[in-house]
Order: sequence, then structure tokens, then C-alpha cells
Amino acid sequence: MDFSLTEEQKLIQQAARDFAQNELLPGVIDRDEKQEFPKQEVQKMAELGFLGMMVDPKYGGSGLDTLSYVLVMEELSKVDASSSVIVSVNNSLVCWGLENFGTEEQKEKYLTRLATGEIIGAFCLSEPEAGSDATSQKTTAIDKGDHYVLNGTKNWITNGGTAGVYLVIAQTDKEKKHRGINALIVEKGTPGFEIGPKENKLGIRGSDTHSLIFNDVKVPKENRIGDDGFGFKFAMKTLSGGRIGIAAQALGIAAGAYELALKYSKERKAFGTEISNHQAIAFKLADMHTSIQAARLLVYQAAKDKDNGSNYDVSGAMAKLYASKVAMETAIEAVQIHGGNGFVKDYHVERLMRDAKITQIYEGTSEIQKIVISRSILK
Ligand SMILES: Cc1cc2nc3c(=O)[nH]c(=O)nc-3n(C[C@H](O)[C@H](O)[C@H](O)COP(=O)(O)OP(=O)(O)OC[C@H]3O[C@@H](n4cnc5c(N)ncnc54)[C@H](O)[C@@H]3O)c2cc1C
Repeated sequence: MDFSLTEEQKLIQQAARDFAQNELLPGVIDRDEKQEFPKQEVQKMAELGFLGMMVDPKYGGSGLDTLSYVLVMEELSKVDASSSVIVSVNNSLVCWGLENFGTEEQKEKYLTRLATGEIIGAFCLSEPEAGSDATSQKTTAIDKGDHYVLNGTKNWITNGGTAGVYLVIAQTDKEKKHRGINALIVEKGTPGFEIGPKENKLGIRGSDTHSLIFNDVKVPKENRIGDDGFGFKFAMKTLSGGRIGIAAQALGIAAGAYELALKYSKERKAFGTEISNHQAIAFKLADMHTSIQAARLLVYQAAKDKDNGSNYDVSGAMAKLYASKVAMETAIEAVQIHGGNGFVKDYHVERLMRDAKITQIYEGTSEIQKIVISRSILK
């Protein structure tokens, strides 16, 4: 396993680090407090090519590998996980799904605008009664010859209010169960498509999460992704890669919390010395550093597997499972190291602790990752 970075990867990493420090950090507490979507920051990330990182340049993308994408996700997430989830959904779920399974017409019409950040995308699988059990789709897409009629509700959709294009998973033929599910491209503003209220969340409060309501929405047949009945497979394949992005987000949150705790421990004095000189604190830092490095190796391995054309279902699941656990544990310890200051907003670690939790829930909960991993061990 060789994870040494190329000169290009190092430059991309540095660009993301500079951007996070200079552009994301100044307003991050305020955006979290007000649940404000980082509109200007997303525009700047688009200019840096962060919204279509792995997309072929002929569709307006940056044509980079998954490892470069992971490096960017890690750096952005050290500072602002609300911004990094926008990057993650647009790159690994929406652009990747369209580029790999869309028709040439769909790519020309939607992918270029998504990869350049002219619009952003949303991926709509979850429903009030279909989260982990994604096969229980209640949203229907009834075949009417040259179009589908879409009815139902989607829950918890990231970029729900701000996206221009939505990839919507829905049941066409109930008899065929998961083989009767389709993925449709739905444009914002299509008659009958309503955006529900914004969710008031524990963490990633700057990201824009909504329910979506479809009432007799007409979607042309040419907006179906893949063959009839491909929708569930499309969702699973797309999420498999998406998990690498969320694993990198978790890694970044952990690394961000650790860096803040390390700095603070060398500045704060108690009992006549810096708190880092107390072994209880030094050992916490040692544990954090070790587990973050282990998480990083798993995340980079999953990215390399994807870049090498190897199967990444299990390595991605392991990376997400472990990195999200490390994010949660590290952020809690970073708050502890900050003492009372860790409990107030100005020191950032309480926000990182709140943000860390979502990495154990979305794009497959930790329990679902364990199902993926254990099935592969036991088969
Ligand atoms: C902020 C946020 C953003 C999101 N963004 C999106 C998005 O953009 N698009 C989208 O489609 N979805 C999105 N989601 C939804 C997210 O993917 C789901 O919440 C997640 O998959 C879990 O589904 P659920 O909430 O229905 O929980 P449930 O499926 O009801 O699970 C509840 C609990 O039971 C456990 N559980 C369920 N089944 C099993 C089992 N077989 N074995 C063991 N344990 C089990 C789960 O692990 C969990 O602990 C988002 C959610 C949030 C909170």
C-alpha cells in the first residue's frame, strides 16, 4: 500500500486547506447558528473545481482521481462539514451517478451544469418509512407511455431547497419489488414538485435539508437513468462510492478537532504547567492521533480501490464505519481537553462534535455498514 501523494495531489490538498482557512472559517460559527446555506462559499468552491472533481473535463469537470477528492473532503471538513457535504453529494452521488449511468443527452443537459457548479444536485432516496430499508419505496413513478407520473414524499434531502436538479428514486412496478424501482431526473420548478420546510438540525446546520413532495409530477421518459428497473441498483452503486466521501468527511472532522485540541493543550495552563504536560491529556492526544491515522489509511485505501477499478463496497463501508466512530470519539475528547471553553461556540470543537454525529447516520448508518462488512466476511 503506497499512499504517497503526487505533486498534483499535494497542490490540491493545499488549495483546499487554504480555502477552508481563508474562506470557510471566518463565517462558519455564524452560518451554523443561523442555519445559513454557504451560498457564496459554494460559488467559490465551484470556481476551484471542487464541485465536479472526478468528472471528465469534456463535461466541465476537473478529471481528478478519488484520492484527490478525498483529500479535498478531508481539508474542508476540518473546518466546515456543512460545506463539505454539499461537495460530497454533488460529486459522489449526483455527478458520479449521471456520468456513469446517464445517457449522452442527460450528461450534456445536466452533468456539465452540475460539474461546473452552475447548479447543484440532490440525491433523493430516503422516505418517512424507507431509510435503512431503502427497498420499501412508497413514492411511485407510474409509467404513462412517454412519461412517468411521480407521487410521494422524500425525507432529509441534502441540498433539498437549493438544488436545481434532483435524482429521485421511485417504485414503478410494486410486483417486481426492488427490480421495479426507477431513478428519474427531476428539475426544480416542475409543476407539482414542492419543497417542504427546512429541517432544524443538531449538526451540519449550514447544509440545507428538506423533505420534498411530489404531486402528479410529469417526468419525461428520457429523464430515466438506465434501463427500466435499474433504479435500486443505481442507488446502491452510487451510495457505495458516496460512502468514501462521507468517510473522508468524518476523517476531516476528527483531524480538525484533534488539531484544535493539540494547540489548546499547549497553550492552556493548569497546576502551573501546560495541560499537555499532564499525562491524562497527552495520552488522549496519543489515542486521537493513532486512531485518526488508522482511519486515514482506511479512507485512502477505499479511494485507491475505486481508482484502481477494484471492488470498493467493503473497503468503503469499513472506511465509513471506522472514520465516523473516530470522528465522534475524537470530537468528544477535543471538547474534554478544552474544558469549559469546549462547551462554548467560539472554540469550534462543540460544533465539530455535533457535526460528527451525522457521519454515523447518513449514506448508511453504522449498523448498515456492519451488515455490508459481515455479509462479505461470512459469505
Ligand atoms: C442531515 C441528514 C441528511 C440526509 N441527506 C440525505 C440525502 O441527501 N438523501 C437521502 O436519500 N437521504 C438522506 N438522509 C437520510 C439518511 O440516509 C437516513 O436517515 C439513514 O439512511 C437512516 O435511515 P432512517 O433515518 O430511516 O433510520 P432507520 O432506518 O429507521 O434506522 C433507525 C435505527 O435502526 C437501525 N437499523 C435499521 N435497520 C437495521 C438492521 N437491519 N439491522 C440493524 N440495525 C438496523 C439503524 O442503523 C438506526 O440506528 C439524510 C439524513 C440526515 C439526518
